[in-house]
Amino acid sequence: MELYAESLTEYKRLKTLEVKVGDLLIGNYHPIRIQTMTTTDTMDTIGTVEQSIRCIEAGAELVRITAPSKKEAENLLNIKNELHKRGYKTPLVADIHFTPNAAEIAARIVEKVRVNPGNYVDKKKFELIEYSDADYEEEIERIRNRFTPLIKICKEYGTAMRIGTNHGSLSDRIMSRYGDTPVGMVESAMEFLRIAESENYYNIVLSMKSSNPKVMVQAYRLLIENMENELGHCYPLHLGVTEAGDGEDGRIKSAIGIGTLLEDGIGDTIRVSLTEDSEFELPVCKNIVKRYSNRNNEQSDVPPVKNISNIFPDLTGTHVRETFSVENTGEKNVPVVVADFHKKNKITRGDLKDIGYRYNTSMDKWNIGDMAADYIFCGNNEIDFALPGTLRLIYSYDSWKSLKDQSKCFPLLTEQQFLDETSPLSPVINFVQLDCYSASRSNFDKEKLFAKIKSNKKIVLSLSSENKNAVQSIRRMFGELNERKIKNPAIIYCNSNKDSMAESLIHFAIDAGALLVDGFGNGIFLSDHFYDRNKIPDYKFINSIAFGILQATRTRISKTEFISCPSCGRTLFDLQETTAKVRAVTHHLKGLKIAIMGCIVNGPGEMADADFGYVGSGPGKITLYKGKEVVKRNLPEAIAVEELINLLKENNAWVEPELVLS
Ligand code: SF4
Repeated sequence: MELYAESLTEYKRLKTLEVKVGDLLIGNYHPIRIQTMTTTDTMDTIGTVEQSIRCIEAGAELVRITAPSKKEAENLLNIKNELHKRGYKTPLVADIHFTPNAAEIAARIVEKVRVNPGNYVDKKKFELIEYSDADYEEEIERIRNRFTPLIKICKEYGTAMRIGTNHGSLSDRIMSRYGDTPVGMVESAMEFLRIAESENYYNIVLSMKSSNPKVMVQAYRLLIENMENELGHCYPLHLGVTEAGDGEDGRIKSAIGIGTLLEDGIGDTIRVSLTEDSEFELPVCKNIVKRYSNRNNEQSDVPPVKNISNIFPDLTGTHVRETFSVENTGEKNVPVVVADFHKKNKITRGDLKDIGYRYNTSMDKWNIGDMAADYIFCGNNEIDFALPGTLRLIYSYDSWKSLKDQSKCFPLLTEQQFLDETSPLSPVINFVQLDCYSASRSNFDKEKLFAKIKSNKKIVLSLSSENKNAVQSIRRMFGELNERKIKNPAIIYCNSNKDSMAESLIHFAIDAGALLVDGFGNGIFLSDHFYDRNKIPDYKFINSIAFGILQATRTRISKTEFISCPSCGRTLFDLQETTAKVRAVTHHLKGLKIAIMGCIVNGPGEMADADFGYVGSGPGKITLYKGKEVVKRNLPEAIAVEELINLLKENNAWVEPELVLS
């Protein structure tokens, strides 16, 4: 093991115990399973059955259904029977919060129960209490007494269990001792796991979800380290980013959190939680899992990098690669975005709209948006108009050399061109493309190349990999740079040849996001080649994905962040419509985190680090929060969005939309 994975530079799956959920096997190198959760009222038997079937048909291998109280838990039997009658034997999972009696009923009916250790026994009061060791032990004993009956039922009925910790719903006890941290998340699960093992019950899957992919990734890694050290084995892991939201942002956040771990061989089952109908989650899951179905280690003939672990000094999740700055890259600069326009025959002013620059002809002025790319890679195409102030151009080296005016233009050299070059380069910034996979294997003088990079303080690397294991290849290269104390900034070049944008989004988010989450990379350069070479990329979408990746990895904030739950049988209003309404009026509030949560039972806890919350508190009623504090209770839904705007104004968090340049 290297820290938390079998390998940090090769693709190898983590060995986990085998868990049986009905006839489905999870863990122990079985394929990565995909699952979802219904959004219907659990008392609506036919509605839930029909939605479950839509999900199963879309690929779900497990279907989770909420059981908020005993009556819903009992109704799981009707749902299961009806599904069986219609020929569907897919395992069902009961989702439990706060209600051990519902869990004990459900465990006799369905194949798996999910308990949240943050609220299975504890009622959350948001209280900070000082616990002595004796007090703490007493609390653990209380949990043991309440949790053991469920374990005994699961053992008797052959029911599996997920101990599903959520960052936003840790118990007051854990919060008081460990705070709102990944360490607290891990300890919350370990308390329950120790009790289960003391009863010789091992049919367990674990999860560590958060709406922040960085927190989520760190928590899973810490959990693995803890399980290995304390128990000597690992339970299968279910991966997911909670309250990821909807649309492109929800998919990017989920892909980054889930994909970062899958790249390291971690994860036995996944769910992509979207504020959309459940069946839309499955194609996203499939596109993620597809990447690993035939993944072998294509790097086995590459010599190992020494001391790779020393690039992650610890598991605190705070690692950032040390770099110096070159122009606007590296050191304290936010990661840059490079737009790839090399396929365009002619670049016009109008084209720049797709990458955040809007030209006002009558005023002869550029408006620069929050998601304005920093560089355009033009290939060999010259631009014949004056550029907006902050925008710069990158040219293929040979074309750059022949430019008359190089003032805002910089070269991109291949590694061989850079090695061979003796004439002066740009005194400002030069990009050197390095294919990390072939660089590890080719015969060119690698040490000469490294020495030349190190001695030139105007070089920014553009790291790519044609290998399927691109994350590992590029991480290896960061290891090599680290060994040689090379501190030149490096941007991550990511090429997609997928045949749909939905798949390209997943590819970009994982390949670039997995490195950025770990503090590697001073920019991203996304390029979409498609299988069809004649197809023109969707530049606006790619630019938006680039900024979405930076936002989700919290490396560059350019827009409002929406944290919205996927909804479930507890939801008290039309969450999708409401999320769209809130988004429409607040999408311009850069950096603000707004949560839209379906119920008052879990919503306030789950919305984690949101600045403001819009939470369903009864049919047609909304309660507004500032952080964790209730500020406007039980507002009629019809005026709640207006009241949210008023609340933002009262807290100086509001900007009039017309004042924002877009
Ligand atoms: S917060 Fe949303 S998903 Fe979670 S229990 Fe409440 S309604 Fe269901």
